Amino acid sequence: MRVDLHTHTNASDGNLLPGELIFQAEQAGVEMLAITDHDSVAAYSQLETKKNISVQLIKGIEISSRWKKMGVHIVGLNVDINNAGLKAAIKKQQKIRTTRAKLIADKLQSQGFENVLEGTYKIAGDAAIGRLHFAHYLIAIGAVKNYNAAFKKYLGDNKLGEAKNEWETMSQAIQWIDGSGGKAVLAHPAKYKLTHAKMEQLIADFAAAGGHAIEVVSGLQTQEISQRLAKLAEQYHLLASSGSDFHRPGQSWAALGAQSELPKTCRPVWEEWIQ
Ligand code: AMP
Ligand code: MN
Ligand code: MN
Ligand code: MN
Repeated sequence: MRVDLHTHTNASDGNLLPGELIFQAEQAGVEMLAITDHDSVAAYSQLETKKNISVQLIKGIEISSRWKKMGVHIVGLNVDINNAGLKAAIKKQQKIRTTRAKLIADKLQSQGFENVLEGTYKIAGDAAIGRLHFAHYLIAIGAVKNYNAAFKKYLGDNKLGEAKNEWETMSQAIQWIDGSGGKAVLAHPAKYKLTHAKMEQLIADFAAAGGHAIEVVSGLQTQEISQRLAKLAEQYHLLASSGSDFHRPGQSWAALGAQSELPKTCRPVWEEWIQ
């Protein structure tokens, strides 16, 4: 089954409208799709009136959180987007994003850039504002050539980007998702660039906190990484998920639904949702 359980729209830092994303997913032969915007489920309200969608939609979100001093992303799948606890959590997360945006803008201003906050909000519109919008702005004013350079030079975790953020704990994020009836999935574990020991510690803590699954396959990672994550999933009795982390057409790391298959030993988190 072709699934993509990690994608973004312009309700966060993706480029496509929710309807456009679904259309492109259908074209790509995706059978089950989750829109997982950063700290937002706004994409789903735009789809309420849409009928005749051939792809099965699983409601999702990608929650920013922290584990130790590191930012980690927890994807929530099959959540109830009207759950009061989740709604309150989203409000809280949006507030953190707004505060952080001001901090990032201040720091960029002190590096000599002008009009940063207004310029970035113009790009973000109503979306959950994030670092990719700042990257857009830096590219637009000619400060950097591309996204990679923007993160390398200014916005990366070790640069000013994370701005000592105040994200809630990973355990809290898991509880929000669990409380709304969803499954908590540790997003793109390989992206945190951890040693094997640290990765195991993260996954052990995630499982102990009630996490359900890990993204064994994320984007265009190597088979070796997928195999390693599959083993860890098995070891910690976790289900497996798979997603492209799609943000825009032409992005370098994966097209919609184009990830490789889960290793055979995995138990897919989506199995019980198949209609
Ligand atoms: P935020 O949620 O505001 O902390 O921003 C994190 C987002 O920035 C990720 O979800 C990616 O979309 C984007 N991002 C992070 N690093 C890079 C990079 N090196 N190149 C392009 N996009 C990146
Ligand atoms: Mn993103
Ligand atoms: Mn992420
Ligand atoms: Mn993502």
